Amino acid sequence: MKREQSAGLHEQAMDVILGGVNSPSRSFKAVGGGAPVTMERAQGAYFWDVDGNRYIDYLAAYGPIITGHAHPHITKAITEAAANGTLYGTPTPWEIQFATMIREAIPSMERIRFNNSGTEAVMTCIRVARAYTGRVKVMKFAGCYHGHSDLVLVAAGSGPSTLGIPDSAGIPQSIANEVITVPFNDIDAFREAIRVWGAETACILVEPIVGNFGIVEPKPGFLESVNQIAHEAGALVVYDEVITAFRFCYGGAQNLLGVEPDLTALGKIIGGGLPIGAYGGRREIMEQVAPLGPAYQAGTMAGNPASIRAGIACLEVLQQPGVYDEFERLGAILQEGIQESAAKHGVAVQVNRVKGALAVYFTDKPVYDYDTAQAADGEKFARFFQLILNEGICLAPSKYEAWFVTTAHTEADIRDTIAAVDRSFAAL
Ligand code: PMP
Repeated sequence: MKREQSAGLHEQAMDVILGGVNSPSRSFKAVGGGAPVTMERAQGAYFWDVDGNRYIDYLAAYGPIITGHAHPHITKAITEAAANGTLYGTPTPWEIQFATMIREAIPSMERIRFNNSGTEAVMTCIRVARAYTGRVKVMKFAGCYHGHSDLVLVAAGSGPSTLGIPDSAGIPQSIANEVITVPFNDIDAFREAIRVWGAETACILVEPIVGNFGIVEPKPGFLESVNQIAHEAGALVVYDEVITAFRFCYGGAQNLLGVEPDLTALGKIIGGGLPIGAYGGRREIMEQVAPLGPAYQAGTMAGNPASIRAGIACLEVLQQPGVYDEFERLGAILQEGIQESAAKHGVAVQVNRVKGALAVYFTDKPVYDYDTAQAADGEKFARFFQLILNEGICLAPSKYEAWFVTTAHTEADIRDTIAAVDRSFAAL
């Protein structure tokens, strides 16, 4: 597959856009380098690059594009919004409609605020939890990504309950010191961390189903125990459902799993492909936020009619009967195809999957936390990524990112993908 135009554009981009990309995860650094593919058009389950190559898309823009690209219902909503003014700086009817739709789907979000990104949503949940509890420390699970605000860019070293070490330059150690990191799915480590720091902890940040080191489900009882132990210590539980909400069912992972947090952060899918974030939770906690309370959060673009109306349209598509059953059906076919092909070619892989979200790890051991995900072979993933890209299958250029099936993928797309996986495994 020729990608000369992409290569040329990447050179131009490097001269003006820092690193040639507007988000570091788009670079091909982790998959052996080279120019990232420059895409020009997207429709349904497909991308076309500037060289005219077609790809089946499993990146789904890192998650938001759950209905496929340029879905006509969402495009219509965006077009109508644009024709009526994209930004008012006043209340609008659509934001009330949308907040009501979200609360009906995720009842723990008794009061809601819209903002512009998942990063903002999580950042504000932390502020609200600190305001409500009067405490400072935050606990998170190792390897979970919660956006790029200072506090959460701390993954910390191995071992349970180590005090935070910043993952980025420019984050003061004093801030990192307020973050405690615990291995996911390790309730004993969590209990121990709470024993030591529980009285100082404002909140526990949780991806209820992890989407940031592949796809990792909580062990039975893990989330229930986190809730109980956290609440006994007077700490709040914040679910970061930026990836998970509306992905596995019409609602949050919290609805699927039957565990309720105090606060929830949303993003990605609820914007229908436009920028958005949202947070919400128990009324008396949310009442900390201005204008009702002393915790400040604001935004010029927050609740803009374009994002809100795109979000409403996206959720309307997801309300159609059978959507999540079809994710399950196609996801299962894809998982089975990958596993059969791997067995045939003697490639060690683990496939973790929930509905239409899959993670393919090059390892022969089960993956249930960050350490076991890190143990997957990154070099083999890099070769596989390049092979399957040349087959016209677009994945994220990282061994930690999930594959997302959308409502636009057909069974024929899935079968074509399995054939491409098979040729790529054969060539590994
Ligand atoms: N939380 C989670 C779980 C995420 O996966 C992401 C983004 N991948 C974020 C927060 C940050 O969202 P955004 O990129 O919209 O700021």
